[in-house]
Amino acid sequence: MRKEYLYSPGPTTVPPEALSVMAKPIFHHRTKRHREMFQEVLDGLKYVLATQNDVLVFASSGTGAMEGSVANLLSPGDKVITVSGGKFGERFGEICRAYGAKVDEITVEWGHAVDPAEIEKRLSDEVKAVYVTLCETSTGVHNDIQSIAGIVSKTPAVLVVDAISGLLCDDLLVDEWNIDVAIGGSQKGLMIPPGVSFCSVSEKAWALAESSRMPKYYFDFQKTKKSADKADTPFTPAVTLLRALRETLSMVCGEGRENLLRLYAALAGAVHAGAAALGLQLFSNAPSNAVTAINAPEGIDVTELLSFLRDDLGVTFAGGQAKLKGKIFRICSMGYTNEFDILTAMSALEFGLKKLGYEFELGAGIKAAEEVLQ
Ligand SMILES: *Cc1c(COP(=O)(O)O)cnc(C)c1O
Repeated sequence: MRKEYLYSPGPTTVPPEALSVMAKPIFHHRTKRHREMFQEVLDGLKYVLATQNDVLVFASSGTGAMEGSVANLLSPGDKVITVSGGKFGERFGEICRAYGAKVDEITVEWGHAVDPAEIEKRLSDEVKAVYVTLCETSTGVHNDIQSIAGIVSKTPAVLVVDAISGLLCDDLLVDEWNIDVAIGGSQKGLMIPPGVSFCSVSEKAWALAESSRMPKYYFDFQKTKKSADKADTPFTPAVTLLRALRETLSMVCGEGRENLLRLYAALAGAVHAGAAALGLQLFSNAPSNAVTAINAPEGIDVTELLSFLRDDLGVTFAGGQAKLKGKIFRICSMGYTNEFDILTAMSALEFGLKKLGYEFELGAGIKAAEEVLQ
């Protein structure tokens, strides 16, 4: 009779509409039927990213498209700016160094957003690309991409945004804001299992890609675009996942980007209010609407709290990553999450805290969350 409640910031809960199409018989991908379906996926992704730019789709987890954005834009020794303020911003730095780029890494205190002025200060005509993260999932921080894009778009550098977890929760207008490469993944706000990554590519980014001398093969953007122009892929696509993605994109388009942004802002707001009512503090001082990182209360062992929730109640929250292990826990409000899911999360949190002897008034978190949501 065990029921699973998943509040991890990827993978997220998959809606029944998407689960059921994945159970249907496979059809071959070099067919008109597949190309029609894939074209719908490409159009849906353009809607989600608010762009007319090319969108490329890969059979990989999100990191694959991140790696592609390094391998296709740069040449060995190129100067780039990255931001290290959490696991995922660090990853961009690691990929750039692995490919032999010269990395100017801005170090930001974990839990804080990067100051756009710091990026402006470090930009010069030699900088080829700036790599930033919309929602830094490891810290629950939302970075001000609009301001950063306003700065970078006035320079020769291209702006690459890892929007994998923030997409649909924290606003991102690729064309209006001038974002050159925006990267997404399947297992976060788009509500399907892991295994698909994608990115948009602007004219400015294509121009830089022309001169790129980094090695690449599977994640070759130009090769992928040639195929995408014919609603095709150079290699076997993740056929089952793409079918599921068409379903969730159709749900997203039906709801509308703006409405979803409002919904997730309300859901995250309810988590914030609930946490505050329980005397808990947010870890981030620029909280994202995709995931909320909450500081472990004094004297409470987060590992014990999370295991009790997961093993005894079937409720999965995420812990902290790297140096935040044992210090925070994270509740995700992206994707297939609604008001009642947030109330369930809050209720489970209260059960867990009570069990571990934390002092608070039972129902206080739920009440505060309901006040935001009703
Ligand atoms: C999940 C995530 C990724 C990608 O991770 P994969 O495990 O490769 O899918 C990258 N960046 C951010 C901000 C993420 O949340």
